[in-house]
Amino acid sequence: SNLQHFIVIGNPIAHSKSPEIHQRFAEQAQLQIRYNRQYCPDDAASFIAVVEAFFNGGGVGANVTVPFKQVAYQLCAGRGQLSAHAKVAGAVNTLMLKEGQIYGDNTDGQGLVNHLLSLGWPLKGAKVAILGAGGASRGVALPLIEAGIKQLTIANRTVEKAQALIEQLCAASPVIDAINPDYCGLEQLEGDFDLIINATSIGLSGEMLPLKENLNCDYAYDMMYGRELPFLTHFSDKGAEVSSGYGMLIGQAALSFKLWTGASVDLNALTEAQ
Ligand code: NDP
Repeated sequence: SNLQHFIVIGNPIAHSKSPEIHQRFAEQAQLQIRYNRQYCPDDAASFIAVVEAFFNGGGVGANVTVPFKQVAYQLCAGRGQLSAHAKVAGAVNTLMLKEGQIYGDNTDGQGLVNHLLSLGWPLKGAKVAILGAGGASRGVALPLIEAGIKQLTIANRTVEKAQALIEQLCAASPVIDAINPDYCGLEQLEGDFDLIINATSIGLSGEMLPLKENLNCDYAYDMMYGRELPFLTHFSDKGAEVSSGYGMLIGQAALSFKLWTGASVDLNALTEAQ
């Protein structure tokens, strides 16, 4: 049959909405697909074994989520190929086979930018803070700068990781280096921003980040979705416009789906159908 097989690999993975989203894309594109959640133990060897078994078994495409995006990058850098965006990000959220080799791309950043623009949030000239320095944070820095933001601060619980990320991003991209981005610890971040993006994984636990009271923004975006998000409540109470990451999820998924199948998804038609 023409049934194409896809997975999303993560830990935890039960909360992932990717299977339902891709099924809806497939219906729209009139393709037959099977898309499963794939739990994986949290170590690189297990991740590589899962990926190899999947593609050896005829799998077409895999999404990669917490906490494997950097391991997926290492896998492709070592014995596969990488897109330009994945190279700068040092993180991969989309895997497929290309000329018999594993190919990694990163669609998170463009998915986020597409969602922010669809919300009408102003990015040109914006002062932006990203909270978190993991796989998700890495993926969005370059696309945000390409969308016209003019100032970027990365704040992370482990400040050394924020520093290392800024240094890597600047070394990988002259576009990022040119805006001279800054970093600090999560609890040090203060002042006024146009946009603050929560790219930490704290939303998975339902806890609130330790943020300063004098940290403010006009727009607050949490990459997490599908549950109550204390980060958004916090900034909404302070008067900010807020959004969860569901639109980003749909946006990055549509870009992955296009890569795998060649089919473009009409996201407007999809929202109306919800
Ligand atoms: P990683 O595991 O790579 O990174 C986790 C990050 O969260 C690190 O910066 C870590 O800080 C920080 N963190 C974790 N727990 C805490 C805590 N208790 N307090 C403060 N900081 C914490 O995850 P990803 O970057 O891949 O994903 C991050 C989040 O973004 C997830 O919730 C994921 O679901 C979401 N996401 C959503 C997408 C969407 O399409 N909507 C796309 C991609 C991701 P430290 O370095 O100190 O450990």
